[in-house]
Amino acid sequence: MKVLIVDDQEPFRAVARTVVELTDGFEVVGEVETGEASVEAVEQLEPDLVLMDVNLPGINGLEATRRIVAGAASGSHRPVIVLVLSTYEAGEYDGQATEAGAAAFIPKSEFGPDRLLDAWNAAKSAA
Ligand SMILES: [Mg+2]
Repeated sequence: MKVLIVDDQEPFRAVARTVVELTDGFEVVGEVETGEASVEAVEQLEPDLVLMDVNLPGINGLEATRRIVAGAASGSHRPVIVLVLSTYEAGEYDGQATEAGAAAFIPKSEFGPDRLLDAWNAAKSAA
């Protein structure tokens, strides 16, 4: 699966990259630092999965998720699964993330290959 990483902080992008590389069958195809850039990157790279940070400069990750989901609905790009990640614990954003069209919310402290695969499999079986 092709994965796009969206995060404004390089240390977390490095963590996310490592997690993706450690997960069988997943590879990073792009990394961007803003929500606006993520919308363009989804159109250009057509990833299967987007790992989306919430707090970003410019539009936040929830708004970027809305735009990406709308882009799939309008045929700008093929459907893509979005997982929203944040340093905040689940209670802060999980409802808003799924409202925005994300498949799941994952606290960054819990993010690893197992959590990535679980979320991916849950999203695929729900689709
Ligand atoms: Mg951030």
